[in-house]
Amino acid sequence: MGASGRRGFLAFFAMVLVLFSGSALFARDVSGLHTLSETGIKQVVKEAYEKFKNDNSGKNADYIKALAKVDPKIFGITVVTRDGKVIEAGDTKSAVSIQSISKVFTASLVMQEHGAKFLQEKIGANATGLPFNSIIAIELHDGSASNPFVNAGAIQATSWVRAKDSKERWAKIKKNMDDYAGNELAFNEEVYISEVNDNKRNQAISKILDAYGRMGSDPLEATTVYTKQCSVNVNAHDLGVMGATLANHGVNPITGKRVLKAAYVPKLLAVMATAGLYDNAGDWLYETGAPAKSGVGGGLLTVIPGKLAIGVVSPPLDKYGNSVRAQKATIYIIEKLGLNPYAQ
Ligand code: GLU
Repeated sequence: MGASGRRGFLAFFAMVLVLFSGSALFARDVSGLHTLSETGIKQVVKEAYEKFKNDNSGKNADYIKALAKVDPKIFGITVVTRDGKVIEAGDTKSAVSIQSISKVFTASLVMQEHGAKFLQEKIGANATGLPFNSIIAIELHDGSASNPFVNAGAIQATSWVRAKDSKERWAKIKKNMDDYAGNELAFNEEVYISEVNDNKRNQAISKILDAYGRMGSDPLEATTVYTKQCSVNVNAHDLGVMGATLANHGVNPITGKRVLKAAYVPKLLAVMATAGLYDNAGDWLYETGAPAKSGVGGGLLTVIPGKLAIGVVSPPLDKYGNSVRAQKATIYIIEKLGLNPYAQ
C-alpha cells in the first residue's frame, strides 16, 4: 500500500470509529466497563417519554386536598450525569410538592451535623414493613421510628437539625435542599396550608416519639417544620440535579458545591434502597437495583451511584403511593442503558 492508500485507510478507519461511538449506547473502555454515551442516554430518555406519555393510569393523592388538584398530565424526565450533563424530555419545568423526597435531604443534613452512627442509632436504618405513617410501627419497635423515610423518622430527623428555634431550623432545611438543587426552590403555600390544617396523625406520631424521649426539639414544632419541607416545589430538572449530587458523591455537579460528606453518601443511598418506595421498596429494588425515593406529590428521584440520577415528575400514583409513569419511565431507562448497579 502506498502512502496515499495508507492515509485513505486511516481516514476510513477513523470515520468508522466516530460513527460507531456516536450511535452506540455504550462504548467499551479498556477495563471492559460500560461507558455511557450522551447520545445513547438522549435516545433512551426520549423513548421513555414517548412510550409512557399517554399512560393515564394511577390517581393523584387526595388525602392532602391540594394534591388532588394538581394537573395529572404533568410528565417530565431529567437525567443529570455525574459530570453535569443534563438530558431531558417532556415537561421538566412544571413543579409538584416534593413531599417525602424531602426526607432524603433532611436525613442528609442530620448525618452531616451528627454523623452516620447518630442517624442509625437515634432514628434507625431498617424497613418497618408497615405503612409510611404507621403509629403501631413505633410501638412495635420500642419507640424507634425505624428509618428516616417513614413519617416518624422524618419528623424526628427534622427535630434533630441543630437550630435555636423553628425559624432557623426551617431556614437550614430549606437552604440544604436549595444547595442540592443548585437553585432556590419555591414554597407551595397552597399545599402547606392544606396539609398543616390536616396533619393530626403526624402530630400524634411526634408526640409518641417524644414520650419515648426520641425528639430533639418540641414535637409539634418539628411537625410543622416537617410539613413545610414537604411543601417545597420541585420539577423533574430539580430532582435530577438533587439526585446527581448524590451520584457525584455529595458534590452538586452543576454548582460544584459540596453538600454532603462523601463518606455519608453510601449510607443515605442504603436507606433509599431499603425504604425509598413505601411498601413496594423491595419490588422496586428487585426490578432496578437502584436507590430511589418517591413522594406522594408524584416525584421520583433515582440515583445510579457514581454515574447519574433520574428525576421524574408525574402526579398519578399507584396503590403504594408511587408515581406510575415515573416508575415505568425510570425502569425503562435503567433497563435500556444497563444501569442496574448490581449488574456492573
Ligand atoms: N407530607 C406527607 C405526609 O406526611 C408526605 C407523604 C409522602 O410523600 O410520603 O403525609
